[in-house]
Amino acid sequence: MPEQNLTDLLKLPNLEVVGYETTEDTVVLDVKPTFKVALCPECKNPSASLHDYDTPRLIRDLSMFGRKSYLRLRGRRFECKTCQNAFTERLEWIAFDSSYTQRFEEYVFTLCRKNTVQDVSQLLELGYEAVEGLFKRQAKKRHRHHKSGSSG
Ligand SMILES: [Zn+2]
Repeated sequence: MPEQNLTDLLKLPNLEVVGYETTEDTVVLDVKPTFKVALCPECKNPSASLHDYDTPRLIRDLSMFGRKSYLRLRGRRFECKTCQNAFTERLEWIAFDSSYTQRFEEYVFTLCRKNTVQDVSQLLELGYEAVEGLFKRQAKKRHRHHKSGSSG
């Protein structure tokens, strides 16, 4: 079953590949979360009341075999029975509302430390501003971690 193999190769937690499309230079994997429940961000109770899907969106991931790679995901909307809050599921491998997986963001950051933003932009075929934005976001995050992790 090829999708099962792709799920193994993808190596993202609690995510399943249900189909894929390829073109000359891109790979698009259709993915869906495997959990039946999601945690309500308000009251932290699990909710199994899946009531809607967002329109599918493309999330850039690390390139696969030299092809640009995207995950196609329909965000899941749940309704919390405890506090009546409707919410979109948060996923651990992507920053909320980002168009890139976290590992892709980290990859961009690593490249930017050794190359100019212009170089990285060309290499990844990603807009200059997008690269710059990702770099700044990661730098900020790391700075925060670094500060909280050291005692002086
Ligand atoms: Zn709730």
